[in-house]
Amino acid sequence: MTETVTNWAGNITYTAKELHRPHSLDALRTLLADAARVRVLGSGHSFNEIAEPGDGGVLLSLDALPAEVEVDTAARTVRVGGGVRYAELARTVHAHGLALPNMASLPHISVAGSVATGTHGSGVGNGPLASAVREVELVTADGSTVTIGRGEARFGGAVTSLGALGVVTALTLDLEPAFEVEQYVFTELPLEGLDAAAFDAVMSAAYSVSLFTDWEAPGFRQVWVKRRADQPFAGLPWASPATEKMHPVPGMPAVNCTEQFGVPGPWHERLPHFRAEFTPSSGAELQSEYLLPRRHAVEALRALDAVRRAVAPVLQICEVRTVAADEQWLSPAYGRDSVALHFTWVADTDAVLPVVRRVEEALDPFDARPHWGKVFTVPAPALRARCPRLGDFRALARELDPTGKFTNAFVRDVLGG
Ligand SMILES: Cc1cc2nc3c(=O)[nH]c(=O)nc-3n(C[C@H](O)[C@H](O)[C@H](O)COP(=O)(O)OP(=O)(O)OC[C@H]3O[C@@H](n4cnc5c(N)ncnc54)[C@H](O)[C@@H]3O)c2cc1C
Repeated sequence: MTETVTNWAGNITYTAKELHRPHSLDALRTLLADAARVRVLGSGHSFNEIAEPGDGGVLLSLDALPAEVEVDTAARTVRVGGGVRYAELARTVHAHGLALPNMASLPHISVAGSVATGTHGSGVGNGPLASAVREVELVTADGSTVTIGRGEARFGGAVTSLGALGVVTALTLDLEPAFEVEQYVFTELPLEGLDAAAFDAVMSAAYSVSLFTDWEAPGFRQVWVKRRADQPFAGLPWASPATEKMHPVPGMPAVNCTEQFGVPGPWHERLPHFRAEFTPSSGAELQSEYLLPRRHAVEALRALDAVRRAVAPVLQICEVRTVAADEQWLSPAYGRDSVALHFTWVADTDAVLPVVRRVEEALDPFDARPHWGKVFTVPAPALRARCPRLGDFRALARELDPTGKFTNAFVRDVLGG
C-alpha cells in the first residue's frame, strides 16, 4: 500500500511510502527484526525531519497498539502506552482524582513524542513535561524490552532521547492530587522599563504565565496567567485585565481557547491554551523555539525587539514562557532555569527561514538551545557545543542501538562523530 505521510503542519513529507501500524508487541518486534532503519512517528506535531526514517527506512506508528492508561492511585503514578496523547491521558488521570503537574499548549500531542523532544509548558517552578517521567520501557534494536527508571545513571538520556534509543512502548509518570486552575488574560505589558527583577516578578506571579506579542510594536499584547486555586495570587498590576475572551493570535476566534476570566476548572482544562475537544487536523503554521538561561531573558527580549521589523511580517505570534531546569541530558532546559522564546510563523518556509536565521543570530550571545521538534537552522557543530552531556548520550545510544537502527540524518547531526 502506498500512502503519502506528512507531519501535522504538512511542511514535511516523509520518504516512507507506508506508515506501519503494528497491532501487538510481537508484530512490532517482527517489524524491527526485518528493518535496517526505523523511526517512530508520534502524533506528527514536530516541524522538522526529526521523525524522517531516511531512504528505505521504516516509519511506524503505535496508534494501533492498545492505548493503555493504567493509574495506580496508591502510588500516584500512571503507566501510559507509547502512542497515547495527553488529552486521553489527562481525562483518565483526572477521573481518578489525580493530576499531571503541567501540560503544553495543545493536548493533542503524544506523550512519548513530547517528552522525546523536551516539550514544555510554562512556570518558573515547572520543568519540561519529561520531568514527570519516572520510568521508560523501550523495545530496542534486537527486539528486547529495556526498562530504565529514575535513579539509574542512564536515566538522564532515556526520556528526552529524540527517538534514538528504540521504540518507547510505555512510560510511567508521577501524579499529584487533582487541582483547580483559574485562567486570566491581561493586555499590554510594556517592554520598556522591564528589568530582570520585574520580568521574574511577572513570570512568578502565578503557577504558569505566558507573554504573547506579534512584535508589531515593542512589548507584549497579552499575558496569560494560570493560577492554581490552592496557591496565592496577588494579581498582575503591570497590565490591564482583558475585557473579552482572547485567542493568542490577533484576529483568531477565542472559541477554541480554554476558559478565561478566572472561572475555576480542572487542571487539564486550563493548563493547555487550546481545548481538547477542538481537534486541529492540520495547522497553517510553522514553529521555532529557543531556550536560554532565564537570567538573560530581558537582554534576549531586547535583542528580539531590535529585529522585530524583520520578524513581524512572517510572524503569527511569539510566546514567552519559563521552564525550570531539568536533568535530561539532551533537554533544552538541561541544568538551567530557562526562558523559552517561541515563534508561530506563517506557513511559508522560504519566507520564514531567513527570519529564523536573524532570530538565531540575535539570540546567539545567550547560548540559546533550539526546541528539538521545531524549525531551526543552528549549524550542527554549534548545536553540539550547546549540549554539555552529549558525550553521555552518544555512549547510551551506542549501548542500546549499536547498529544505529534508530538513527537518522537529524540524529546524526546532533550526535556528530
Ligand atoms: C500546535 C502545536 C502546539 C505545540 N505546543 C507546544 C508547547 O506548548 N510546548 C512545546 O514545548 N512544544 C509544543 N509543540 C511541539 C510538540 O510538542 C513537539 O513537536 C512534540 O515532539 C510533539 O509530539 P509528537 O508525538 O507529535 O512528535 P512527533 O513529531 O511525532 O515525534 C517527535 C519525536 O519523537 C519520536 N517519537 C514519538 N513517539 C515515539 C515512541 N513511541 N518511541 C520512540 N520515539 C518516539 C519521533 O521519532 C520523533 O523523533 C507544539 C506543536 C504544535 C504543532
